[in-house]
Amino acid sequence: MIPAPFEYYKANSTDEALKLIRDFGEEAKFLAGGQSLIPMMKVRFARPTKLIDISKVQELRYISLDGDYIKIGGLTTHRELEKSSIIIEKIPVLAHCAHEIADIQIRNVGTIGGSLAHADPSADYPPVVLALNAVIVAKSIAQEREIPINDFFLEAFTAELRPDELLVEIKIPVMKPNEKAAYIKIGHPATGFSVVNCAVKITLDKEKIEKARVAFGGFVTVPYLDEKVGEFLIGKPANIDTITQASELVAEGREVIGDYYADADYRRHLAKSVFVRVMKKALEI
Ligand SMILES: Cc1cc2nc3c(=O)[nH]c(=O)nc-3n(C[C@H](O)[C@H](O)[C@H](O)COP(=O)(O)OP(=O)(O)OC[C@H]3O[C@@H](n4cnc5c(N)ncnc54)[C@H](O)[C@@H]3O)c2cc1C
Repeated sequence: MIPAPFEYYKANSTDEALKLIRDFGEEAKFLAGGQSLIPMMKVRFARPTKLIDISKVQELRYISLDGDYIKIGGLTTHRELEKSSIIIEKIPVLAHCAHEIADIQIRNVGTIGGSLAHADPSADYPPVVLALNAVIVAKSIAQEREIPINDFFLEAFTAELRPDELLVEIKIPVMKPNEKAAYIKIGHPATGFSVVNCAVKITLDKEKIEKARVAFGGFVTVPYLDEKVGEFLIGKPANIDTITQASELVAEGREVIGDYYADADYRRHLAKSVFVRVMKKALEI
């Protein structure tokens, strides 16, 4: 439970952090809240020889409303998101999601950028940011680029970020009055991490579903947008019959993981049931 030796560097600005990572290369890692990286280092799944502490880079810690988007700095903590009046008013599902993470001590230091970069398939944010159609802003010394969330989660614990890139911002479209969203996780009783989680964002045209983004995590190795389910919902009445029929398509063709706690068949069944619950919650039916 003792990490391998490493050198520690503290960055006071984004530029300083980016210069350090450029100079150090792949042997270095950013340290944000440390709530995933330090445990990984203690069991030696991660062995960076240099840590660049970015936790005090204040310019990456913000939540702001900019036109049709909410912009969230990569170093914003789970707790700040949970308590933010902008998030509670404009994207309440994200505040609820942040509240679901671990306990208050972890939420006080863990960051949304760290969580997304870590790309744990059982984490809370991935299905929510997928459903909300977020955009990730990544920056290196050479360039800044925007990554659509559909392209962001590549494999378990691997996101579309180059070793020298810092996740500086998450952009999330503000919810409109005819858009409904919800998130539910079934957490493991020992760890709190998701066995199954699901988030939806539904756009309504009167009584019908005009658009649907349905996303899952926990029971698959990569959190994903379920396009089959989303497409099925489009044009259908927003009622329980539609939801029940759509639930039959959940996880179709997906390899589902299983373990001693919850085998694959159970998780597949649970995913369908959680989907029904999330839809009912979003549509308030
Ligand atoms: C006991 C416990 C329970 C937990 N329960 C949950 C839970 O229920 N749900 C959940 O979702 N999570 C849970 N977590 C994880 C927690 O949410 C972490 O805060 C989060 O996963 C990582 O954020 P961090 O800021 O701590 O990142 P760190 O641990 O500092 O970094 C994680 C990884 O991301 C990289 N990184 C960090 N920031 C950036 C950035 N801005 N740009 C590029 N790369 C970056 C680091 O180099 C590292 O590889 C739990 C953690 C613990 C210890």
